[in-house]
Amino acid sequence: MVKKSKLAKETSANETVSNNLRSQLRFSSETGEIWLHEHRMLLVHADSHAKLRRELIESLGISRARGMIMRIGYATGINDCELTHINRNWTNDHESFMAGPLLFTLEGNAKTSIPKLEINRKMGKFYVEALLENSWESQAYLRHYGESTEGVCWYLHGYSSGYCSAFMGKPILCKEIKCFAAGGKHCYLVGKPVEEWDDSSDYSLMMNQESIAEQLIGLQNEVVHLRSAISEKKMPSYVVGNSPAFLAAYDLLMQAVDSQITVLLLGETGVGKEVFARTLHEKGARCKESFIAINCAAIPHDLVESELFGVEKGAFTGALASRPGRFERANGGTLFLDEVGDLPLSAQAKLLRVLQEGEVERLGGTKTHKVNVRLVTATNIDLRQLVENGKFRSDLYYRLNALQIHIPPLRERKLDILILAKTFLKKFSDVNGKKLRGFSDKAKLVLLAYQWPGNIRELQNVVERGVMLAPNGTHISIHHMFPSYSSEFSELALNAKGGLSDSQKESGKDFCEAILSGRITLEQANTLLAEAAVEKASGNLSAAARMLGLTRPQLAYRLEHRPENAVMKFSSRKPKTRAS
Ligand SMILES: [Zn+2]
Repeated sequence: MVKKSKLAKETSANETVSNNLRSQLRFSSETGEIWLHEHRMLLVHADSHAKLRRELIESLGISRARGMIMRIGYATGINDCELTHINRNWTNDHESFMAGPLLFTLEGNAKTSIPKLEINRKMGKFYVEALLENSWESQAYLRHYGESTEGVCWYLHGYSSGYCSAFMGKPILCKEIKCFAAGGKHCYLVGKPVEEWDDSSDYSLMMNQESIAEQLIGLQNEVVHLRSAISEKKMPSYVVGNSPAFLAAYDLLMQAVDSQITVLLLGETGVGKEVFARTLHEKGARCKESFIAINCAAIPHDLVESELFGVEKGAFTGALASRPGRFERANGGTLFLDEVGDLPLSAQAKLLRVLQEGEVERLGGTKTHKVNVRLVTATNIDLRQLVENGKFRSDLYYRLNALQIHIPPLRERKLDILILAKTFLKKFSDVNGKKLRGFSDKAKLVLLAYQWPGNIRELQNVVERGVMLAPNGTHISIHHMFPSYSSEFSELALNAKGGLSDSQKESGKDFCEAILSGRITLEQANTLLAEAAVEKASGNLSAAARMLGLTRPQLAYRLEHRPENAVMKFSSRKPKTRAS
């Protein structure tokens, strides 16, 4: 009797976990994508997969193919462990662990049940036995090669080891001790910590790529290194870009390196104009001298001249000591004037004189100082228009405009978005001491689709936010970077009977079910709605109140009096009122 009720309790817990996982699976026929949480999935023919497996065996030999398939399984197991534990409050270690086998089943690998599980994450204790029916690997092997003398479910072998290791946070090796392809009634697996096995060589096989791959990669790296060493155009580490539009601009910049031509950099805010100016300096003969950058828009108009050209003591009230301007400080090197269109007309006249005569006169001074400066300027506004409006001197415009380089906006260099995002991910992970596993597939698509009005600077900020918000050891998801993102496409979700239905309706149903089964109270549901509206309205309470048909004070009251610990993830809670 007792045993029966324990079984019923476990079955119902598994059902909850299974429903929860199922709700993460989305089919988008409009976009031709299938998603499991934010990871893109493929519905592939098991048979073509089996053929690929056979080809691997026949081209690499059985032991290499086995290692490779195990490693793919191991990596997938780690991914699935992250996916089943992201933002979820499973109630205990047992329920939490079961998410893996149930997902493995949902993915169509085999029907997986767990006859024995001894687990204590705090103590690091772990032992599992798994029974697998209908393993597609064993069936495929039997079809192609007939009966085997040993276990052939290599993917399963790797997957379970990867999942259990990620779950326990320490190396766990699972071994297939019975296999359907080797005459067993089904496949059977035992998993325990690596140190508890006499032979744990398979674990190192899962961790290490074989030498053939390493050798190839090593040789390839060497070629790349040699190529770049002989290339004069090698980009400094802080320049990142590979798209044709960017490379065209970069090539033009490189052509200007060895001349003294005055370069005018054009492009929207945040495209990296200062990086270009700095590169021009560092690649050229002046690289040992100073690089001085100044943003003309950031300095009050009445101080621009003293900043640029220097000042003699007593030139004006407050000029207590003589000091050189940026021109003198950049002597021998490069001076970069950003937002040059913001220079007042009087400063423009002086600037032109310095360029023509190669000498500066400090404010209030009579002596001239010879300067040898390479001037690079930049603007994001149309200087020609300013000339026409009489706000910019035409003679200065032609002087600065000897070579124009247009740096493309980020939306025109899609190829570079993910490279840049990765660079920032590494940078901010290092700074914050975080270990993240990259971006989710869906997050990558959103990064690519976004228009980036603030260009690289905006991308940098978005990735920084993602790094801050993503939990250690996981992928950065869309909502870590874009808190108010919502998809424009409808997606189909798998319902309990295995059919497909509209995911929004489905999650609406989940929501109702959560209230009706007592998992959340009406009051909590109200709070969830209120919070969702505020998030959607980017914090604007009046707009959020309008969405809900409330007045602003009513909404504010609701938010102030929300129940403590409001349940944010209603679908991840176990039903309170289920009979056991
Ligand atoms: Zn098997």
